[in-house]
Amino acid sequence: MRHILLLGGTTEASALATALAARGERAMLSYAGRTEAPRVQAIPTRVGGFGGVEGLAAYMIREGVTHLVDATHPFAARISANAMAAATAAGVPLLALTRPEWVEGPGDRWIRVGNTGEAVARLGFEPTRVFLALGRQTIGDFASAPQHFYLLRFVDAAAPPALPRHHLVVDRGPFTLAGELALLREHRIQMVVAKNAGGSGARAKLDAARELGLPVVMVDRPFIPPRPQVGSVAAVLDWLDHGVVRGV
Ligand code: NAP
Repeated sequence: MRHILLLGGTTEASALATALAARGERAMLSYAGRTEAPRVQAIPTRVGGFGGVEGLAAYMIREGVTHLVDATHPFAARISANAMAAATAAGVPLLALTRPEWVEGPGDRWIRVGNTGEAVARLGFEPTRVFLALGRQTIGDFASAPQHFYLLRFVDAAAPPALPRHHLVVDRGPFTLAGELALLREHRIQMVVAKNAGGSGARAKLDAARELGLPVVMVDRPFIPPRPQVGSVAAVLDWLDHGVVRGV
């Protein structure tokens, strides 16, 4: 019987886990351990890093993993690079499940930057009310611009951010346009900072910013080397069944 290792931490990974469970597949979902209370899953889960490429390759050999699916976040570049190298080392076929990028449309006012350091610079010197729609790991970069007010939203309240003027909302998506409009208005937000994560669950903030005419500092995705990838759970299942990527 095949044994699938699913690298997760995303909505897509959870959806795939549900589909694998429904088919009775032998599969393990792996979390990095960044959130306090990850979603309950329909397949077994493990938590924590593997110990680099060697650790991941050794895990796959030890556990008899036959298929590796990288459904991590598009900004989780290190684990994706590790997955490619470990898959080669262990002789395990790899497929990435990724979401398409968001694309700027009519009415959007995007300022595209390469990383969060550049995003800080684009906020300017004048005190501004900013919705920082980023994960906890990159918030520290904004400590160098303490003149701004930052609205933050995390999935849990662990480790309060070291930003002098901020308000933390604890919430887990998906979010609605009406909800995002209300949030931006309530906190009189003037600028949004977001990562180009893609997907539908986090899209509403961009639609809300467009509706309110707010500029969005958009952090582009990090580079991940080319690899076999698909954009849907159905296409992953097809790959498992037929061993080829057919772009379902
Ligand atoms: P990263 O920088 O690419 O990875 C750092 C290290 O964390 C990896 O080298 C690996 O440690 C461990 N790791 C990452 N994902 C793992 C997983 N699914 N299972 C086991 N170990 C994992 O990753 P990151 O950006 O910190 O993201 C961590 C997790 O959060 C990912 O699972 C990702 O899907 C999720 N996430 C990230 C973002 C984001 O914006 N970065 C947003 C939403 C969700 P070892 O080298 O020791 O194996």
